[in-house]
This record gives sequence, structure tokens and C-alpha cells, in this order.
Amino acid sequence: MEQKYNPYDNMLHVLEETAQELHLEKDNYIPFKYPEREIKVALPVRMDDGHVQMFEGYRIQHSSTRGPCKGGIRFHPEVDEDEVKALAFGMTLKCAVVDLPYGGAKGGVQVDPTKLSETELERLTRRYTAAILPFIGPEKDIPAPDVNTNPKMMGWIMDTYSMLSGYPVPGVVTGKPIDIGGSLGRNEATGRGVSIITKEALKQFKMEGSQKIAIQGMGNVGSNAAIILHEMGHKIVGISDVSGGLYKAGGLNIPAIIKHQAKHKNLLKGYKEDGAKEIGSAELLTCDCDVLIPAALGGVLTAANANKVKAKLIVEAANGPTTVEADEVFKKKGITLIPDILANAGGVVVSYFEWVQNIQSLMWDLDRVNEMLGKIMEKAFAQVRDIAVKDKSDYRKAAYILAVSRLVEARKTRGVFP
Ligand code: GLU
Repeated sequence: MEQKYNPYDNMLHVLEETAQELHLEKDNYIPFKYPEREIKVALPVRMDDGHVQMFEGYRIQHSSTRGPCKGGIRFHPEVDEDEVKALAFGMTLKCAVVDLPYGGAKGGVQVDPTKLSETELERLTRRYTAAILPFIGPEKDIPAPDVNTNPKMMGWIMDTYSMLSGYPVPGVVTGKPIDIGGSLGRNEATGRGVSIITKEALKQFKMEGSQKIAIQGMGNVGSNAAIILHEMGHKIVGISDVSGGLYKAGGLNIPAIIKHQAKHKNLLKGYKEDGAKEIGSAELLTCDCDVLIPAALGGVLTAANANKVKAKLIVEAANGPTTVEADEVFKKKGITLIPDILANAGGVVVSYFEWVQNIQSLMWDLDRVNEMLGKIMEKAFAQVRDIAVKDKSDYRKAAYILAVSRLVEARKTRGVFP
């Protein structure tokens, strides 16, 4: 019988491989094999018709070795414990790659948010916040948006936490609306970070100039990456979302598409453009392009489609879009891949800026946010590249080496309690 792919086992495998590579002593890295704390909650929610429906949620804190735990919350029907564990581990590594003073965590609620009304979604978000309340806070664990969660929901989290504390606590969550302590630039930050990393990679591989880019996913990350890369002068030849996709060799009209999405529930459906042909989300991954940016869900690049990928560069904007088997195929084919823990770290970097502003009651202007984001992303790219060049390794391995070294150093400095 075929065994089900377990994303957490995959993370453990990666950790073990990196530890061997770095000749680490077991004592210094085995703690990272176990999430520090796993919280599973049952959430009764009164639906609009009066009945009570149960939902299952998680908050998994993988590590607080380098600082408070940090990571998003996703609302998705396929959320499960192993996925959230793997994503929490990914946040620990991501924060270490970009050298933020944070550990890693992730939360999830098993729900299809499109099936809930706004009032039901609000009650579910508030109930989830109340359920994990003893374990979160500006010094403990700071949630943020992830798949299917947004600034408005972060506002409900901030309000619930503050009402139950008796005073406003903006630093409990990041990615909030600006008027309650959100940071300028946070909403676009992940897409901006993806664009910065794409620019650095194109420079590194001497692929500068107007490259053809395809983006899977037009949610917060994909749409902002599309706008910024389009502004940088690249041709966005392919895009897709849950409602469909489009391909145009000469480049799509991104501003018109964004306008259409804003009017039509954030979906591409119904958008028409001369010369653009309709393609499916799966077809997009193998379309004719130079750079492929998977910006939707995990596990989309697999052994089944990796051989058909035509891009020369893949920039992982989603978390975990590439399976281990697909990774091997890309290495054999000479396709360069920039891993998620580097490529999509822009979101958590500006989350960090938001938290810093909140706990000091400061407000930074947008130029300052974007300039500092640029500096951090470029520095992390250069550090990963230097390891890749020195070790003749791929970028994923190099990013793991950088992250695990930083984690282990912090672990050694702190020692084992008691
Ligand atoms: N959910 C985003 C990520 O996976 C952002 C996390 C954060 O800002 O804390 O990186």
C-alpha cells in the first residue's frame, strides 16, 4: 500500500541531512526534531441559522530558541496536524535564514472559509483566539496571516485578545489593518520579498532583462508579486487562481487583471484579454516561461509534472510547493530553485517591523519599511548564495545550512534547562 506523504517526516529528514553535512553533535540538534508545544483546540461556533458547528484548530510552536514564536494562521479544509507541524518548523528555519530574533510557529483551522458568512467567520476567528489565548502574546507567540486569512481577521484577533486582557495589545498579532497598529507595507511584503529575491537571482544567474514569468496563485502573495515584477519591467506571461488561468506570450495586462479581481471577489474568472488563452492551474506550471513562481499551496510540483517544467528558475513563493522527488528532477535538469524559507520571508520580515513598532508605540513610513525589507532580503540572499557557491550545493541545501547553524549556535549559547 502506498504510504501517505507526511510533510513533518520530510522536515525531519531535511534536518537530519543538514546535521550530517554540518557534522553536528546529536545533543545540539535533536531538540529541533520535536515541536516545543502542540495545541489542539475544539471550537464550537454558533452558525447564522442558530445551530452549533464544531471546528478543529491547532497552534503549534516549534521553537522559541531564537526568540518568541512567530508564524501565520491558515484556514483551509485540508489543514491537519502534520502539515501545521511542518509549517511551524518551516517558520523556525525561515526566521533564522533572515536572522530575525524569532522562533517559529504555525496555526490552522480546518474549514473552508468560502462556505461561511462573514459573521460566522468572525465568531470562528474570535473563538479560536480565545482557545489559544493563554499561549500567545507579544512576548510568547505572535500570529499573522497565511492562506485564506487576512488583515480584517488579524484585527478580530487583536480585539479579542485585547478585550480579554482589559487593555489594547497590538503586538499580539501582525498583518493587522493600519488603523489599529498594522505596518505600512505589510500587506505587500511577501510579494515584494519574492520580487526582490527574483531580481537578485536573475542578477546572479545572468538572466537580467525582460524575462517571461508565470505565477500560480493570485492571492495576496501572487498578486503583489505580479504587480511589482510587472512594474520592474518583466513580462507576466501566465497567471492562475482557483477559478482558472491565462497565458499570453507577449505578457498580460496586470493592472487590468488586478482591477478585475478587485471587482469580482478577488477572482480571475470572467476576465478577457486579446491574445490571452485560458489555461488550467496545473498547465500553468509547465507553460513556456523563464521564471516560475508557485504562489498557491504546497505540494504542486511533483514527480508527475517536474519533467515538463520549462522554466530555468523557480522561486518558491508558497510554503512547500515542491516535493522531494520534484526537487531531484530540477537538480538533474539544471533548474535553479530558490527555496520558500528564503524566497517568501518578506512577509515575516515586515511582520517583525510591525511588532517592533507596536511594542515601542512607533510608526514608520513606507520608505523606511521597504528600504529595510530590501536590505534584509538582499543580505539573506547573498549569505545563502555564498554557502551554495562555497559548498557547490543547491540553494535549498544552502538555506538549510544557514538556518540550522544559527539555530544550533543559539541552542548551544542558551544551554539545556535546568
Ligand atoms: N504566513 C507567512 C509565512 O508563512 C507570514 C508569517 C508571519 O508574518 O509571521 O511566512
